[in-house]
Amino acid sequence: MLDFLKARTRPPTETPGHGGNRSGGKTSVPARHGKAAVTFAAHLRFDDVSRRYGETLALNRVSLDVPPGKVLCLLGPSGCGKTTLLRIAAGASGRAPAACSSTIRRSPVPNRFVPPEKRGVGLMFQDFALFPHLTILDNVAFGLRSPDQGASRAEAHAALERVGLGQYAGDYPHILSGGEQQRVALARAIAPRPGVLLMDEPFSGLDPRLRETMREDTLAILHETRATCIVVTHDAEEAMRMGDSVALLRKGHVVQTGTAPELYRAPTDIFAARTFSDLNEVTTRIEQGRAPTPLGTFDAKGFADGTEVIVCMRQGGMRLLGQGEGAPGRVLDTRFLGDVGLVEVAVQGFDAPILARVREADVPARGTEVGISVDAGAVLIFPAENGEALPSS
Ligand code: ADP
Repeated sequence: MLDFLKARTRPPTETPGHGGNRSGGKTSVPARHGKAAVTFAAHLRFDDVSRRYGETLALNRVSLDVPPGKVLCLLGPSGCGKTTLLRIAAGASGRAPAACSSTIRRSPVPNRFVPPEKRGVGLMFQDFALFPHLTILDNVAFGLRSPDQGASRAEAHAALERVGLGQYAGDYPHILSGGEQQRVALARAIAPRPGVLLMDEPFSGLDPRLRETMREDTLAILHETRATCIVVTHDAEEAMRMGDSVALLRKGHVVQTGTAPELYRAPTDIFAARTFSDLNEVTTRIEQGRAPTPLGTFDAKGFADGTEVIVCMRQGGMRLLGQGEGAPGRVLDTRFLGDVGLVEVAVQGFDAPILARVREADVPARGTEVGISVDAGAVLIFPAENGEALPSS
């Protein structure tokens, strides 16, 4: 069962501001441009939703709850069912799923000129398509099928102003950069003031810096509109940055849901741990309630003696020390990653080099003899067999 509960909208309460300049070229961050029109958000709930395509069980009894005005990120590898879930939320999934009764309810409420049934769901997809033969304003106004053309265009203009592109209203999409076209797509999605906004990999076509900017700006706009939002992504960092909550999917079922810190600190299995952190892993056997490794022996409550486990150590929790401290190691290689450096250290007892993420200023030279240790809080322990147990820390 999929419910939209209490989806209501009201007219904009803010007057849009004036378009800012475009300093810094096409990919620059726009100045603040008024406020996005406000929506009364829907409460979105998936209750035991399944979906089968022939032999493939694309969704397996998925239950999720997105409170009004909150952003849920659907995170998972390709093929895990994210898009299928989003399409069901959009009511665009074709015939009803075999294994669930899927209903969408929207409460009609009075509004000025956009019919309520047109207000339910806004969509923004990775391969957003702007109509090349329509002006940018007409592209944004496209979803506003109001009999009052003037009012529609005013709303479209307000949305365009909010994404910083008001001055291009009369131009055609081909003059815009990829990032700007994405902003137009965002304006088009928010213009009808949807109670629910669904975004499928909305930033994956952008270069990393622009993606960052678009994420932040989109979040600000979402908070202004107060739309309930689902963002699909395969990028854990993006999910953690954008989502009020994150649902991690694998093979059609929800592995774990929670806030970003909850999922990061207490991943439910090794799959979740690998999704949210870069790890060093070593297989060992429990002895007297503890997991011995070449980098120390760690508490492993809940595991029977003799159980084979995988001890996972976050790369950011590794400490490089002076010679004679910690376990002895030798720096094999270093990689510059900006603020941090990635250091490969050969440590006796490990088949593969240990990777440590340290401050760039602390990166030792290749060939340096070092000591190495790991913070106890950066250690997670899972059974080797199926990887599904709570971490020890
Ligand atoms: P994701 O968005 O996470 O990449 P999808 O929801 O697109 O995953 O797909 C989930 C599974 O369902 C995949 O195995 C995919 O091959 C399958 N699938 C998706 N759409 C169809 C379809 N129209 N026909 C058959 N199989 C499909």
